[in-house]
Amino acid sequence: MVQLSINDHLDNNQPALLLNGGQVLSRLKIRSLVFFLIAVCLSMTTVAGWEVWNSRQYHLRDKEVAMSNLAQALAWQAQASIKQADTLLLTLVERLENEGIESARQPRMQRLLGIQRRELSQLHGLFVYDQAGQWIANSNGAALANANNSDREYFIFHRGHPDRGPHIGPSIKSRSSGEWIMTVSRRVSHPDGSFAGVALATIQLSHFLALYDSIDMGHNGVINLIADDGSIVVRRPFKESEVGSSVANGALFTQLLPLGNSGTARVRSVVDGVERVVGFRRVEGYPLIVFAALNQEEVLAGWREESLLSAGIVALFLGLLGVLGYRLIRLMKHQNHIQSVLLDAQEKLLEVNRGLELLALEDALTGLSNRRQFDLFIMTEMRRARRTQTHLALLMIDVDHFKRFNDLYGHVVGDACLRRISSIIVEHIKRPGDLAARYGGEEFTVVLPGTDYVGAFLVAEKIRRAVQLAGIEHSEGVEGTVTVSVGVCAWDTALHDQPDDLVRAADRALYVAKASGRNMSVIDK
Ligand code: GH3
Ligand code: MG
Ligand code: MG
Repeated sequence: MVQLSINDHLDNNQPALLLNGGQVLSRLKIRSLVFFLIAVCLSMTTVAGWEVWNSRQYHLRDKEVAMSNLAQALAWQAQASIKQADTLLLTLVERLENEGIESARQPRMQRLLGIQRRELSQLHGLFVYDQAGQWIANSNGAALANANNSDREYFIFHRGHPDRGPHIGPSIKSRSSGEWIMTVSRRVSHPDGSFAGVALATIQLSHFLALYDSIDMGHNGVINLIADDGSIVVRRPFKESEVGSSVANGALFTQLLPLGNSGTARVRSVVDGVERVVGFRRVEGYPLIVFAALNQEEVLAGWREESLLSAGIVALFLGLLGVLGYRLIRLMKHQNHIQSVLLDAQEKLLEVNRGLELLALEDALTGLSNRRQFDLFIMTEMRRARRTQTHLALLMIDVDHFKRFNDLYGHVVGDACLRRISSIIVEHIKRPGDLAARYGGEEFTVVLPGTDYVGAFLVAEKIRRAVQLAGIEHSEGVEGTVTVSVGVCAWDTALHDQPDDLVRAADRALYVAKASGRNMSVIDK
């Protein structure tokens, strides 16, 4: 049996699909948005971090170059200062060796040394010592009484070394003036090559310090003039205790100088433990190294400020992005919620609609199709039969003497009887295309598509007999039980144009059945 639905085009599963599909899509969208936001934040952080790192490297590299240039300039200055003093020594030694070292005692020589010292501002003094270390001549006037310098490092060095080159000794405090000085000395030999004495030029450390102090090296920057053996000759900032101390264990001697005579690096000082950006260079022709270094902390102070500012800006931006993203996600979730609520409502409406449709097409008392559905169905089936040239039959069933039944047993029992008859009808029309409907009152109709009048008559008879055999008591009925009369008609294209024509034909046959004694089926031919 079929029931026609007005909204057959509405697929029952569609809302659920929409709901699930929509939710999945929305979840995907939210997830994509979260991934996108995370990716943006990560890339911004990475780019900012990379820029900060790059800027740090740039700052350090910039200062390394500056320190390298400074070391070069200071190496030239040291070389020039020492060279000037050494040149004087060279001519002095040459003369002493020609004229004999005792010639230095002549007042003429003393005067010459004085003149020469005054010519060079960096010079502290020029001295000549005999082979015993006694002062023979000095540029600063009268010799100290009984002064003997045989204990000085340079004197011991030259006495023990036949080497005729210049020697730079550790910085010392002058015996004549108490000033800190650097010593440049040469050996004076007898004609047979034996040791005759020492010619010495002393250079004030203040000559170097004045220059070093005039250079802006920050609070913790250093400039060192260091001897080849690692001992500090001059150091800015100047501390007496550090003069002569050794940095031979430091990175300069252990790591940097083995690689080259000049260079740049970042090293931790063995003197004060401070990490520095360093430039260094050997002084050409002399066993000295210039070392210039800035405190890395100070170098990076500007960079740190810049970085903090950009980190602040990035953090602010990330924060804004986070807040916006959070609000966007909440909005999307809210939209999703509304969407799913709407879809739920749609689903419920469709359910209600389906119920209403059923109500609109179903007879409330018997559960059979009602008159409305019958009208739609017969119309559709007539069209189909016409199109496909197939049979179509109609039964019109009317309960016999039902008015009396109601009068005898009451309407409630009458209703129950109608429900019983309707279920008997349904039981006997088993083809899926058939339709049973309550036509009105105690009249039922059965539409039998693809059935000719013979087949239809057989169905009518089966129903009629089944109602009789049900044995529903009706004392004033035809057989003492409830019976029905059936009008049968088969569709004839020549006679029946509209559904009403078919109904009228069945009615006619029913009338004949009633008139012929009831409890029978009659075909309208
Ligand atoms: P006939 O054999 O000639 O058909 O006699 P009848 O009494 O059945 O005559 P008719 O068909 O004119 O009577 C219809 C009666 O059916 C009237 C009414 O009392 C009864 N009836 C119609 N609808 C209902 C209903 O829904 N419930 C009940 N209980 N009775 C109904
Ligand atoms: Mg009737
Ligand atoms: Mg009747």
